[in-house]
Amino acid sequence: MSLTRYIITKADFTQLLTHLIDRKYVSEILSGKEKRNRYAIVPEFVSDPKELENFPLSQLLTYGYARTDSASNTILHSKKALDTTVAVVARACDIRAMVELDKKNQLNWENLFLIGFHDLGYIPNAVLKKWFKKEEIDESTIVNERLTEKEFVLTFSDGSMKKEPLSKTFNIASNCSRCIEKSHPLADFLLGNYGVPENDETYVLTPQSDRAKKIIKELNWENKAADEKTNEKYEKTAQNVIENCSIKRESDLDEFLNNEDRFSLLTKCTGCGICVKSCPVCFCVVCNLTAQVKAKTMDPVMFITTRFTHVGDTCVECGRCTTNCPMHIPLDLVFQSLRRKFKKERGYAAGADRNQKVLHLDV
Ligand code: SF4
Ligand code: SF4
Ligand code: SF4
Repeated sequence: MSLTRYIITKADFTQLLTHLIDRKYVSEILSGKEKRNRYAIVPEFVSDPKELENFPLSQLLTYGYARTDSASNTILHSKKALDTTVAVVARACDIRAMVELDKKNQLNWENLFLIGFHDLGYIPNAVLKKWFKKEEIDESTIVNERLTEKEFVLTFSDGSMKKEPLSKTFNIASNCSRCIEKSHPLADFLLGNYGVPENDETYVLTPQSDRAKKIIKELNWENKAADEKTNEKYEKTAQNVIENCSIKRESDLDEFLNNEDRFSLLTKCTGCGICVKSCPVCFCVVCNLTAQVKAKTMDPVMFITTRFTHVGDTCVECGRCTTNCPMHIPLDLVFQSLRRKFKKERGYAAGADRNQKVLHLDV
């Protein structure tokens, strides 16, 4: 039986978050605030419902958190979910990361309330920085942003819009263009904008868990149920997105694995450690590898290849290592190739199932 979906506004979303706090489903919400500009969002835990009105929803859905931050990596480093109930608005890859962190006792799963994006991907910060500079847009007049399969759409306070076609130079992260798991079944709610018109500021909310369905009733939101046409459009868009990403994934990964020079790309590594800092499944307090690379007692290629063995089986394909690598090393292609192999040969997919043992332990 298909799930019922609901059409909500940004104000409804604020009401939902407020409800989670008021009814004590959680005591804190992982939100974010702008730092320097509209697309540089830094994570921030909020417990006062008044602050939820500023939740940067369209920014997080389109841009994600800035630089090395992500929802999962914030949950890991803050240790918040060990002893506090917290609602996390997270991407599917973040939820996969939290599943892996749960297996390694880095969080308490029962403390999480998950609102998972059903997204297309995010536009990397470096791409946005160039584009906003080139277009000379007054960011203070933007009220909404939206990604469609073909375009990035900005809405301004006077109701006007600006559309930028996705292209080779202005696009979602390379990893996202090959991502075929864009929603997570363990999220309480799914939230996205497949199927709704690009010129309105609505979202599609899908309750997946029993408590999420209960919340819809508590909020009296039954009248917000999506009509048949919107449901069909949602499903068709979701299907198209996955089909296109699957085609790209197979062709990019095959091309990469057939490139005999692929390992020479690793020699560009400077050992800066940003990939480690970005990674939501790297949980050592101190990374001995980066310390050795910095001390020049370890070759950077040795460092990268060691890292493939350290996180290859828990990598959840968030792609943050690649998005942030200053040397543009395609680590995502390596990790996605490994995931494809593990899935095909061992039926294993990191982050999919809380009860599936980590691959190297399952011998
Ligand atoms: S890797 Fe997939 S789940 Fe993660 S942000 Fe990109 S598209 Fe979304
Ligand atoms: S981010 Fe890139 S350059 Fe820096 S350590 Fe990682 S792979 Fe090397
Ligand atoms: S290795 Fe890279 S793609 Fe995999 S989880 Fe870590 S940061 Fe994400």
